[in-house]
Amino acid sequence: MYSVEWQKRGLPHAHILIWLLNKLHSNEVDDIISAEIPDPVTDPRLHDIVTTQMVHGPCGALNPLSPCMADGKCTKRYPRPLVAETVTGNDGYPVYRRRSKEDNGRTIKVKVQNQEIEIGNEFIVPYCPLLSRIFETHANVESCHSAKSIKYLCNNFQMGRYVSTNEALWRLLSFQIHERYPTVVHLAVHLENGQRVYFTEANAAQRAERPPSTTLTSFFAMCEADPFAATLMYVEMPKYYTWNQSTKKFQRRKQGTPVPDWPQVFSTDALGRMYTVHPRNDECFICDCYSVVSSNAYQIRTLFAIIITTCFPSQPIQLWNKYKDAICEDILHRLRIQTNNPDIQITDEIYNEGLILIEDQCLTIANKLLIEVGMIAPNRSMHDSFNQELNRELQYNVDTLQEFVRNNVPLLNEQQKQVYETLMQAVDNNTGGLFFLDAPGGTGKTFVISLILATIRSRCDIALALASSGIAATLLDGGRTAHSAFKNGKIVDAMQAHCLG
Ligand SMILES: [Zn+2]
Repeated sequence: MYSVEWQKRGLPHAHILIWLLNKLHSNEVDDIISAEIPDPVTDPRLHDIVTTQMVHGPCGALNPLSPCMADGKCTKRYPRPLVAETVTGNDGYPVYRRRSKEDNGRTIKVKVQNQEIEIGNEFIVPYCPLLSRIFETHANVESCHSAKSIKYLCNNFQMGRYVSTNEALWRLLSFQIHERYPTVVHLAVHLENGQRVYFTEANAAQRAERPPSTTLTSFFAMCEADPFAATLMYVEMPKYYTWNQSTKKFQRRKQGTPVPDWPQVFSTDALGRMYTVHPRNDECFICDCYSVVSSNAYQIRTLFAIIITTCFPSQPIQLWNKYKDAICEDILHRLRIQTNNPDIQITDEIYNEGLILIEDQCLTIANKLLIEVGMIAPNRSMHDSFNQELNRELQYNVDTLQEFVRNNVPLLNEQQKQVYETLMQAVDNNTGGLFFLDAPGGTGKTFVISLILATIRSRCDIALALASSGIAATLLDGGRTAHSAFKNGKIVDAMQAHCLG
């Protein structure tokens, strides 16, 4: 355990606490820690280091003006008692052996206010000879016997904060304290006139009339005015445009890699990241003029399943009734083609089919039946859940996956490639392992994971994609929550047996 602070003179300074596997016994303290002046003849180097780095003060009666003095006493409790043997006390630190001159303790001459005086071991700060030789610097080492020393390390440096001149200058000149690469620009997602607008009493009317543009409204404006912007997806904007916080406008980048065929357009490796839209903002998804017209029935069913399992709407049946025609559109369409009869109208059987598909999704996301989330139960005979689970994991189209892998592995960047290869090696060599992948949002974690899943599945092996939330699970192909997958332990055991087989 350690804490680092800046010293008042500007140097960083570490307090380190080390737990020893084998406890240090009282009779072993002297082997590791000394508070005495070393022999200048047999060990001149250590003598030099200790006498220049490890002498406290002098203070006390010899030098009452020493900065460590308060109310006539040394705040660090020097000079320390001269004792013939180390005594391990019960208040945290031992009393170290500091032999007196009479007991063959060594002395040195030091200068105090231009006067040379003789001091002994009473002013030596405890040190570890080995560490002192290695670091040749001030390194106070003590044996800690109680929790008091831990409290000292934790509490002492959280009570206040002194900013040294070096650190203050660093901050005043706005040097980076930390840095992240690449740049990630957050992009707003909202309904028309649904953006957050800040106003004061004075400018309320003006703001209402002309609300400041957001990254989204500015993107739409750019699409109309700038022919290059019109070729881009929203998330690609930061790559070619900077977002000007004060004018609230996208501006073409003035530096970067020139884009072929587009003079005055430059690209960088900045990334756009859209804010996650919680499914509870269901209008952003299913608003009459959005999802229902722009998404296919499968997407709407997925969304509906997410909403009823994770957002707990008060009247799910009403929501179903409102959108059931759009939700079942593809089933009707398929039936018309299968029967070669374009006049078939939607029936209760078709709605039931839609409910079964939604229920399958709810089981995937949250392991819940429709009846458990306040919906109408579909009419169906119970499936054998094991077969359902197993089929689910084996239903992938191998050709499509192989093509996906072929096309996308070359697109991995250096770091992504390293992650991909490390994990695939663990799979190929059957060594297993736990891996934690961490990176700023938008840098392609989902891409790498999708590729790993696809690679394994393209070999007809089973890869379970588990996430901590239903929303996260929907980002991955075949993704589900750990909760729903592991609730039925038998299924997982059986599938592991199958994987091994
Ligand atoms: Zn002192």
